[in-house]
Amino acid sequence: MSEIRFDLIHNEYALISPERLHRPNCYATVGNKTLDNRQYDCPFCEGNEHLTPPEIFALRNNEPNKAGWKVRVIPNLYKAVQIETPFGSKEAGHYEVWNGYGAHEVIIDTPRHITKMNQLSKDEYFNWLHVLRLRVADLKNDKKMIYATLFKNHGHYAGATQSHPHTQLIALPILPKQKLSWFRYAFEYYKRNSRSIFDTVIEKEKNDSVRVIAEDNYFIAFAPFASSFAFEVMIISKIQETSTIVDLTDKNINALAKFLRRIIRAFYKQLGNFDFNLVFGLPPLNKNYVSEEFFDKLNLFWRFHIRILPRLFSLGGFEFESGVHINPVSPEDAAAFLRDSLEGE
Ligand SMILES: [Zn+2]
Repeated sequence: MSEIRFDLIHNEYALISPERLHRPNCYATVGNKTLDNRQYDCPFCEGNEHLTPPEIFALRNNEPNKAGWKVRVIPNLYKAVQIETPFGSKEAGHYEVWNGYGAHEVIIDTPRHITKMNQLSKDEYFNWLHVLRLRVADLKNDKKMIYATLFKNHGHYAGATQSHPHTQLIALPILPKQKLSWFRYAFEYYKRNSRSIFDTVIEKEKNDSVRVIAEDNYFIAFAPFASSFAFEVMIISKIQETSTIVDLTDKNINALAKFLRRIIRAFYKQLGNFDFNLVFGLPPLNKNYVSEEFFDKLNLFWRFHIRILPRLFSLGGFEFESGVHINPVSPEDAAAFLRDSLEGE
């Protein structure tokens, strides 16, 4: 039986419709057409540094733009925005037009040409997360950068054009409206209840327990009650006053590396080679006129989190028109499957 569920965190509805699971090809693993890149022409492989623009940063002990790095950051060749563009906005009739000021970076997660995220070691997970933290901290220093999205498109059906594991960081001089309304919603919740909405959800999920996949001292992973995507997983930091990845200590990053790797490995065990988006729920980088009322309280009401969104099914007209997703796998089933696939440390 289908259910319309309200998602307390996203302030949105999701249609949980397990019947749709019986459609043909529901679990067909996608033959990934972008994965036949070979190392000799992959611009993200170690040794091919000359195929990319000069690096912005790399975790290395030798000179830049050569082999010998662990994580490498380059400007996106097909960037949506760039830092060289003059900063400013202008009115065009009723429409506000912004110049394409911002940053679009590609973080190459590993020098190795692997095509599955379960092949990364714990050290590689740590180095990757550590560099993501450094890049967000660096962009935060530019006070004109208001908001950043940090995400992975993994596989053809998740929008990736390179099979080599990579992450993208896009920083903008504006706060998207949908995001603004979500931050305001979470702030209003905090003011009314004197607690973060994330703490309420963690408490509810722990009480219900059926959707919890894993938990340690710092993080909890669960299939959200109103998951929009089949096998959607949310990981939330349990540590108070950690609203962004920049707030996580080395110890926290180390714990997250282990925790996330365990979850990702469970996914591969359960779904095979699957395409997914992974997004980091970051708060605004810097204050602007729309975030003035809540920016200084972000640490109290916002919490660092990660969403893993498997792209097992294509989105259709209903999803685009209504903004409400039809999810054919109940979050309770998804959590049980993933729990069963968890390995030890
Ligand atoms: Zn490669």
